[in-house]
Amino acid sequence: MLLISEIKLNIDEDEALLGKLIAKKLKCSKDDFSYRIIRKSLDARRELLFVYSLTVDIKNEEKYLHIKNVTKYGEPDLSVKPVITDIRPIIIGYGPSGIFSAVRLLEAGIKPIIFEKGKRIPERKKDIDNYFNNGIFNPDSNVQYGEGGAGTFSDAKLTTRVKNPFIKYITDTFIRFGADPSIAYVAHPHVGTDRIMDVITKLTDYLIDNGAEFHFEEPVRKLEIKDNKVKAVITDKNTYPSDIVILASGHSSYELIKELYEEGVYIEKKDMAVGFRVEHPQSLIDSVQYKNKKHPKLEPSEYFLRYNGDKGVYSFCMCPGGYVIPSNSKCNTIVTNGMSYHNRDNTLANSAILIQVNKEEFSDNPLGGFDYLHNLESKAYEISGSYKALSQNISDYLDNKVSKLKFESSYPLGTTVTDFNSFFNEKDNEIFKEAINYFETCIPGFKDGIMVGPETRSSSPVRITRNENLESLSTKGLYPTGEGSGYGGGIMSCALDGIRTANIIIEKLRSISV
Ligand SMILES: Cc1cc2nc3c(=O)[nH]c(=O)nc-3n(C[C@H](O)[C@H](O)[C@H](O)COP(=O)(O)OP(=O)(O)OC[C@H]3O[C@@H](n4cnc5c(N)ncnc54)[C@H](O)[C@@H]3O)c2cc1C
Repeated sequence: MLLISEIKLNIDEDEALLGKLIAKKLKCSKDDFSYRIIRKSLDARRELLFVYSLTVDIKNEEKYLHIKNVTKYGEPDLSVKPVITDIRPIIIGYGPSGIFSAVRLLEAGIKPIIFEKGKRIPERKKDIDNYFNNGIFNPDSNVQYGEGGAGTFSDAKLTTRVKNPFIKYITDTFIRFGADPSIAYVAHPHVGTDRIMDVITKLTDYLIDNGAEFHFEEPVRKLEIKDNKVKAVITDKNTYPSDIVILASGHSSYELIKELYEEGVYIEKKDMAVGFRVEHPQSLIDSVQYKNKKHPKLEPSEYFLRYNGDKGVYSFCMCPGGYVIPSNSKCNTIVTNGMSYHNRDNTLANSAILIQVNKEEFSDNPLGGFDYLHNLESKAYEISGSYKALSQNISDYLDNKVSKLKFESSYPLGTTVTDFNSFFNEKDNEIFKEAINYFETCIPGFKDGIMVGPETRSSSPVRITRNENLESLSTKGLYPTGEGSGYGGGIMSCALDGIRTANIIIEKLRSISV
């Protein structure tokens, strides 16, 4: 297989021309090869161009290797040999990390048992709609809890800075269950909440059909641990024995993490981040990013901003053409996050703007970060007096004043205008303001947006530390995995962590079975 990079098409040209361009580059006939796009990105610096990398299947590859931007290409073999075993690992939590642990284990013939606190997607969606439309919040079934985890009612961006061959495995799995094939090669892949719901539902059905056992609406309350080894998980219904437990319960599983801490599982605090969402007209972001160029094929654009002050401030989880949504998992708290549909066709763009919170800023208790977050979330609710998020014009925040919002937020429950200067601490306000002034130089008009918040669930405040075999430092057989355990942030990195954990368990069970 060959890899050809830097093949360019004008935005108006048809992708069917790619075959012709490859043939021209390799000086051969179009019938001599087949090809596949593996990367497509936009170059908007001058004229609008799509730039492609393609793999090409052709005989006598060697004779083309002298050509510029043509190299050999090979894909690692990610298949796994089956393991003969009756042992059934337990997975706690069915978000991206739990899902991909289950997919990988099952691929090796190991049939996991999965406990998920929330409901299956159709029922979960009803509860979320009831909250978004009628303000009736369900603490057991919401944006954080249920089939697919926190990433289901999201933008389902599949971006990650990590390079790992299993990224293709993950996107291929999503495609297999109905995601658009372009997520395998576009520079900023996203599925959209309307599509990811369907993909996850089909994936769950496939796992069930192939022997995975699911217990929805059955939260794990505690573990049975004896002699520093995990022996069983305990729910309200039963005690389920297993020596292998994958803890993939996400960072909104405070109650379980607290219980594990009290049972002696080693947990340490870690740095995290808090902040707010900003919203702008998508047209403003597009005009800056595309330098006023317009074309129907141009996707709603994104930005990535970072300011290095006394503490880092950065944009995170941007949702072009999206909505700011309520993402709390506890009653009487406010948490914002972002989501979008596949078409990203809302007129507003939103992104989190987060400031780093160093672990020294909260109490010495390893779980102190949860208190820090909970205080912000409930303080917001107290100020608002309802589930309406807090909001303020960015320019007013800079000037320490409050006035009517320049435009209405997309937040479905409405917002309460307040002064974020009296919400965050003085030091953080100072750094946020320096950052905003810097962001204005990157995106002119940034200050004309609005703030909606608070955003508090971007990363876990704890790490359930593990050893080189990915087991808890204190508790054998317990595999802390994904975001809640402090080993991931975002759908892709958590899915990768789930696979990493499954691969270790597969090899462990293989060594026992021979
Ligand atoms: C609104 C929103 C939008 C987002 N958008 C994106 C995005 O576009 N792209 C991106 O990369 N990331 C996004 N994220 C972040 C991403 O969803 C998370 O990083 C990711 O889901 C974490 O995966 P996880 O499997 O570790 O945990 P989670 O997804 O949090 O899953 C944990 C699961 O465990 C369950 N659970 C909790 N406690 C228990 C218990 N005691 N017993 C049994 N089950 C339990 C929960 O119900 C949950 O389903 C978004 C998050 C939110 C909230």
